[in-house]
Amino acid sequence: MIRRWGPLSASILLALVLIHAGTTIPDTDQWLPLLGHRSAVTHSMLLPALVLLRWPMVGGLLAGGFAIHLAADLLSRKWVGYALVKLPLFGALDATASVVFLAVNVLLGMLFYDRAATEAQGRRALWVTLAAAGAVYFLINERYWLLLFPVAAALLLIRRR
Ligand SMILES: [Zn+2]
Repeated sequence: MIRRWGPLSASILLALVLIHAGTTIPDTDQWLPLLGHRSAVTHSMLLPALVLLRWPMVGGLLAGGFAIHLAADLLSRKWVGYALVKLPLFGALDATASVVFLAVNVLLGMLFYDRAATEAQGRRALWVTLAAAGAVYFLINERYWLLLFPVAAALLLIRRR
């Protein structure tokens, strides 16, 4: 059955665009002056929060993309050099602080995203959108193939209903 193009499809489309943007923005620290890689400025909810102040929906959906990127960064095998979170002027956080910093920001990002999803009146659909986008991101960028098992299990569960 073909559903009518409605506000829900529009918000899913908007979410996909903003989630994609959110996953790519954090690593712009590699070519921005003054920021080391994994800068706390781009690897945190600072930017989505600033957008959120003016445009709550845009900031919230963007935060979902940031959360996916930071969650993937949490999979780093070794917490040295490149992987550590850098604070402008203050150098790098240590391994434990980097993990905690990223994890706290992932949670914060999900809270921001949930607020936007609830506001958009398509909370469930938007969470499915974030989960799907996250799965694609993990598969492409992290080659995290183990993820196929929970995704396949979830699809089977949905079909059985
Ligand atoms: Zn990154």
